[in-house]
Amino acid sequence: MSPNNGYHPYVEMNASPELLELETEEAPSLAASLNFAPPLAVADPQATDLAIQDAVRNILSLLGEDAYREGLLNTPLRVRKMYRELLSGYTTDPVALINNALFEVDYSEPVIVRDIELQSMCEHHMLPFIGRAHVAYIPNGRVIGLSKIPRIVDMFSRRLQVQERLTSQIADFLEETLQPAGVAVVVEAAHMCATLRGVRKANARMVTTAMRGEYKTNGELRREFISHISRPMTQELY
Ligand SMILES: [Zn+2]
Repeated sequence: MSPNNGYHPYVEMNASPELLELETEEAPSLAASLNFAPPLAVADPQATDLAIQDAVRNILSLLGEDAYREGLLNTPLRVRKMYRELLSGYTTDPVALINNALFEVDYSEPVIVRDIELQSMCEHHMLPFIGRAHVAYIPNGRVIGLSKIPRIVDMFSRRLQVQERLTSQIADFLEETLQPAGVAVVVEAAHMCATLRGVRKANARMVTTAMRGEYKTNGELRREFISHISRPMTQELY
């Protein structure tokens, strides 16, 4: 077992170190054979961008601002770019994301990646929620390159979301892609819509879980995962 005093995201596993460097030329067909929805296509990106900027300018005017004063002049452009960035998960291609990163490996102990930073946006208020995801799976002959798990988290978090659905989507994607013996996902996040408005509770954290396969049926495995992600991160790993 490796020392577990944190740097994030890191993997904690009983696996050999070569699992950490898995992005080689193998198995592109495996990813292509999985049947995911294609990324969202925008018919005319330039016209769409201008329409978004007009809409932001309209909101500014309707809120009583002079949308053409110096400080606000480029705000619609900045806001449009910000939304494109925060919602970039819609245009991420899931097949390209996992391409060349799935490997047939004879390894069946849990692989755990904890403390993956997560930024998402609540679909009810279009305000951010920010936190961490912890992901575990038990390989059943197939593993995924380490860097891909945070990218999968990004793909689903950079959309308009509710935390419950985000958590399930990460678990479902790993289940479909890896067909593992089990998947566990825990997301903990603070929601700006609860911090800045409404109940205004700055320190409330929401925790959601998605357990699949052996993690659903085997309490011992589940407890082991929870104890791995519960340890405080006391120092950097390097
Ligand atoms: Zn909200």
